[in-house]
Amino acid sequence: MTSVSISSCLNKAVREHYMSLPQGDKCQVTYIWIDGTGEGLRNKTRTLHTEPKSILDIPEWNFDGSSTYQSEGSNSDMYLIPVRMFRDPFTLDPNKLVLCEVLKYNRIAADTNHRMSCKKVMDQVKEHQIWFGIEQEYTLIGKDGHPFGWPQNGFPAPQGPYYCAVGTDKAIGRDIVESHYKACLYAGINIFGTNAEVMPSQWEFQVGPCEGIEMGDQLWVARFLLHRVCEDFGVVATLDPKPMKGNWNGAGSHTNVSTKQMREEGGLQYIEQAIKKLSKKHMEHIKMYDPHGGQDNMRRLTGRHETSNVNEFSAGIANRGASIRIPLQVGQEKKGYFEDRRPAANCDPYLVTKAIANTCLLDDDEEVKGN
Ligand code: ADP
Ligand code: MN
Ligand code: MN
Ligand code: MN
Repeated sequence: MTSVSISSCLNKAVREHYMSLPQGDKCQVTYIWIDGTGEGLRNKTRTLHTEPKSILDIPEWNFDGSSTYQSEGSNSDMYLIPVRMFRDPFTLDPNKLVLCEVLKYNRIAADTNHRMSCKKVMDQVKEHQIWFGIEQEYTLIGKDGHPFGWPQNGFPAPQGPYYCAVGTDKAIGRDIVESHYKACLYAGINIFGTNAEVMPSQWEFQVGPCEGIEMGDQLWVARFLLHRVCEDFGVVATLDPKPMKGNWNGAGSHTNVSTKQMREEGGLQYIEQAIKKLSKKHMEHIKMYDPHGGQDNMRRLTGRHETSNVNEFSAGIANRGASIRIPLQVGQEKKGYFEDRRPAANCDPYLVTKAIANTCLLDDDEEVKGN
């Protein structure tokens, strides 16, 4: 096997011995944060002398921002502010994973910390009880930089048999998908489900429904778990929205949205209202839907391969070639949720959910500006 990493080939039985050693009353806490690229995740671990019972028991920490594309000038220390705690599915109970916000030396949000402003919006629209569910698509890549399991030279058979497939020649890398699913459940991620995608070696998991700020928190940690599980298997999961040019599907983060009003009897009228508002802010949203101001999505949103055109807004019932899709069942029941199909796989869910809540639920003069 040349396409998996050297680390994944280390003797895992030896590792098991150390992992099974008792750790006394101590607790390992792994702090996780978003780096200066707005896409990358970083983490480091420390010992606490007792098990934290809630996020309030986890102290602030810091790191060297000059090594994560995050520092400004000569002040390279950045603060880590714990915001949400999960169980650690790798080192097991009582150890924790903790998602953190990043602040600069002056305690102002780091440039890629979009959680703070997202939370402001979510607090402002609290009475609407906005729920999100995000479908995270990703592609497995071998150590050779090629989609995992694809022939060294040439391509697999064209798309058609792979979506939701079973069978050795159609579903590639399922061990990773199943391990990640269990890791999410153990950690406390509200994982909704998973499926094989249209392009071979492409998969999806869904997180949600989650209310408000929790969507971004849960998705970022679910991504961390994915990258970490992939490490064990020696394969890379990329969130590039169009990893293979040509007749191969790209990868998105379809974002499903509902408010209390939309979920109640006759809620379809509120869904239509929200879509009308979204139609007037198409390009503003596209700018927020990938980490490069729409550049990444230009490769993906071509109007082909179940996508809409990046320059045009469209909406429709059961239409997978539209910017916004109303699921068939929602059209029939006249209540439920809608799906924004535009966010790229590598989007920041804080920016996406913030933009949607801003546009659909706040008047222009109430909108929260800034990062
Ligand atoms: P698709 O048919 O587009 O592939 P999926 O089944 O993959 O849809 O994903 C559906 C998503 O919708 C899940 O993330 C789920 O959490 C989310 N969802 C379901 N009900 C609601 C709701 N009322 N509000 C917001 N999101 C919802
Ligand atoms: Mn889906
Ligand atoms: Mn999908
Ligand atoms: Mn979808």
